[in-house]
Amino acid sequence: MVRTHNLGFPRMGAGRELKFALEAYWKGESSLDDLRAVGANLRRLNWESQAQLDLVPVGDFSFYDQVLDMSFTLGNLPERVGGYRGDALDNYFRIARGRSAPTAAYGESQGVAAGEMTKWFDTNYHYIVPEFDSNTTFELDSSHLIQQIRQAKSLGVNVKPVIIGPVTYLALGKVKDDSDKLALLSRLLPVYQKLLEAIASEGLEWVQIDEAVLVTELEPNWTQAFETAYQSLAGTKIKLLLTTYFGKLLENLPMVAGLPVAGVHLDAVNARDEVDALIQMLPPDRVLSLGVINGRNIWKTDVNGLLDWLEPVATKLGDRLWIAPSCSLLHVPVDLDGETRLDSEIKSWFAFAKQKLEELRVVKAVLEGGRAAAKPHLDANQAATTSRRQSLRVNNPAVKSAVAKIDSQLGQRKSPFALRAKKQAEILNLPKYATTTIGSFPQTADIRRARNQFKAGKIDEAAYSSAMHDEIARCVREQESLGLDVFVHGEAERNDMVEYFGEQLDGYAFSEFGWVQSYGSRCVKPPILFGDISRPQPMTVKWIKYAQSLTKKPMKGMLTGPVTILNWSFVRDDQPRSTTCKQIALAIRNEVQDLEQAGVKIIQIDEAALREGLPLRRSQWQDYLGWAVESFRICANGAADETQIHTHMCYSDFNDIIEAIAHMDADVITIETSRSDMELLDVFETFKYPNQIGPGVYDIHSPNIPTEEHIIGLMQKAAERIPPERLWVNPDCGLKTRQWDEVIPALTNMVAAAKTLRSAE
Ligand code: GLN
Ligand code: ZN
Repeated sequence: MVRTHNLGFPRMGAGRELKFALEAYWKGESSLDDLRAVGANLRRLNWESQAQLDLVPVGDFSFYDQVLDMSFTLGNLPERVGGYRGDALDNYFRIARGRSAPTAAYGESQGVAAGEMTKWFDTNYHYIVPEFDSNTTFELDSSHLIQQIRQAKSLGVNVKPVIIGPVTYLALGKVKDDSDKLALLSRLLPVYQKLLEAIASEGLEWVQIDEAVLVTELEPNWTQAFETAYQSLAGTKIKLLLTTYFGKLLENLPMVAGLPVAGVHLDAVNARDEVDALIQMLPPDRVLSLGVINGRNIWKTDVNGLLDWLEPVATKLGDRLWIAPSCSLLHVPVDLDGETRLDSEIKSWFAFAKQKLEELRVVKAVLEGGRAAAKPHLDANQAATTSRRQSLRVNNPAVKSAVAKIDSQLGQRKSPFALRAKKQAEILNLPKYATTTIGSFPQTADIRRARNQFKAGKIDEAAYSSAMHDEIARCVREQESLGLDVFVHGEAERNDMVEYFGEQLDGYAFSEFGWVQSYGSRCVKPPILFGDISRPQPMTVKWIKYAQSLTKKPMKGMLTGPVTILNWSFVRDDQPRSTTCKQIALAIRNEVQDLEQAGVKIIQIDEAALREGLPLRRSQWQDYLGWAVESFRICANGAADETQIHTHMCYSDFNDIIEAIAHMDADVITIETSRSDMELLDVFETFKYPNQIGPGVYDIHSPNIPTEEHIIGLMQKAAERIPPERLWVNPDCGLKTRQWDEVIPALTNMVAAAKTLRSAE
């Protein structure tokens, strides 16, 4: 018998019930009991949706983040939250979200800083980073997990608890002093032993222990840590399913095969070619769980194609074979059935979490009963797969041939930077320390109302346009009175920097409820890139032209770059990402040229998400950076020498990718640096970045208004590393989340700082 299981289920609920319950509780509109009840109910619903599985994950639910849950289970809480007297869940939220003001009820003399957040492997999910130092100790608190196990058992669920393994837990954390994280392993393992015993005494057979760092490159001492850890956990009375996902094991494969665990889960979507080797190396008593349904995208599986490969594997493995999605379904929306507006042909190509589990059920039915048993399902799947492959909405021969014609000339500016810079300076005539902003100005309630009314059909296009023109005019007026040097139109017409372009490109579809958790209560609804990408008509030109008509100052054209559009979408899986990226690049390139035609002298192409597309393994970085940078160049570098190309990135952690950034050859890059006190610019001391740079001097994530002195101080630090002639003065990022009454004083100080710096030279 083949066993089916799941690694994790989306926790927000199909209607984002958890988000709304959390936010109501945080606003004081509901009680902790209300919130707990919503949680219990969601878990019950999630388990019901998975009832057909042989083993159902428990412990994957979280009120905020599964890594923070693990920190609580292991008793690893930052010292600054010690001395807390209230409810455990409140304490949990204090770490998750921080608390800016001291409150007597919490016994705090100061506020509490939120735990740092970072990306979960190569996903867009963010976890709360565990904090360690040489004094860190651990103490088991399994109550939270045990309570969920008991709830599930009382509902008749076939429970398989999910925990994060000790080595990955350490790897995900950050040491606050210079001590060695791995030295903590010996303190951590006894707590894991106790945790496993506690789970075993609930009468369970298996536990899923996630060790996703196994798909990354490991230093020898970390490889050794795996041996040590799993030797020490081997004596516990529960079977361990050592679980890896998001990639191949490569050089770690023999080590994994040799660990004393009862079973191993492999991501058989990304690492199908490792299955044979793993079968050969695994001792014959071990279970092999294969993640055969992609847990990272929204495409229907080609079930017939999968079976062609899987049937012989199943024959070989017999009862040892388990099947599952490749990873937790946390990264996909809950239920496709809720979508009412998707075109039916396109919809037939998709599978969300529930549909993926249904695919798994069909695969099991076939493996056990033969293909005849599931014929109607297999036929329907075949029809959808064929329709997707052949559809003219997916395949646009003109786009394919344009991509085929890309040559090295296409991404090449006519002249080198120095010459371009001279020509641009003559036209633009900007002062030293030129001031600008990153694109968006505050998204006010008026803007949102106009957009919603337009989308709901309550106002017509003319009324909507005129509302946007009013907003643009306001932005221009404000920038005139602030005295900025290079203007933006403010992006009032954009709800989101990727969605705005996706909606106007052919090859994109949009779900209504396709939400995926990003962090805490925050969800994103990525647009779905399903087909060859083309641009039927200009997307931004009319807004920029209007904005430019209101001022003599240069107005930046404002675009989102191809890599960012790619990285923030659900992307088709039937061709390499690099090909898709180049298609987007060609479409945006057309927009660049239309903006130029319309007389726009400066064009900014944002690549906010370039860095986050880096593969998990460093050995694959060059390949990614190669096509990512080429895509940017294709999109940007068709511009004339006289056109100044800017790009913007929401980070400045360039140490390891600075050469790639330089190779983009943008005339100006603006980056996020204010919070690091310009320390992140250290890389520019050794690497001579050749073009112009605007290091952010205003932390737009904070309500604080930077003073003129503070900004001058930051710019002076920047000037120690980059010649002042090549520096710009600008905020860290766009201003859409701020209020006008914060933006005006902050930019006033920024402009004043630039003037002071100029007169001091
Ligand atoms: N131009 C965009 C804005 O200002 C950039 C946003 C971003 O980098 N995330 O809003
Ligand atoms: Zn940004």
